[in-house]
Amino acid sequence: MRTLALAVAALLASCTTYRDTVAIHFSSEPPGADVVVDGTDNAETRYLLNDACVKLSIPWVYGGAVEATAVAMAVGPGRGPCLRCAFPDPPDPGSLPTARTAGVLNTAVAAASTWQTAEVLRFLVTGQAHWGRLTRLDTWTGETVAIEVERDPDCPCCGQGRYEFLHS
Ligand SMILES: [Zn+2]
Repeated sequence: MRTLALAVAALLASCTTYRDTVAIHFSSEPPGADVVVDGTDNAETRYLLNDACVKLSIPWVYGGAVEATAVAMAVGPGRGPCLRCAFPDPPDPGSLPTARTAGVLNTAVAAASTWQTAEVLRFLVTGQAHWGRLTRLDTWTGETVAIEVERDPDCPCCGQGRYEFLHS
């Protein structure tokens, strides 16, 4: 199994943008990864990654961290919901805090990456993951929320096969 950690791949390939990295790793036959780990820091790239992985049926594990909060969700194309089932459209620029604007505690980064790693290992060992379980942890308060995201049959990406971010 080949696991692609997107942020690392961007550095290794000396790509100037995540879009370049996605283009390189998803244009080959077979694709350059069996599972993808989100190490990015912006919504635009995550929606692009979601389109690419759903189109090519490659599982990927979303993860994010801002302030003291970590989120993670495993996306299994054909097995469960995708990112757009949970969040149909990316947030308007500047509408939500980001690590750049609000900062991030390393505890949140560690929590997100730990969940992502656990999901990747679960997939590599068993072929399964907690597809569509959106987990959010506030590492400051200790509050944890897990939501089972339902697959949306009208989802533009996994429901209708329109890969708007891939082709934009
Ligand atoms: Zn979807």
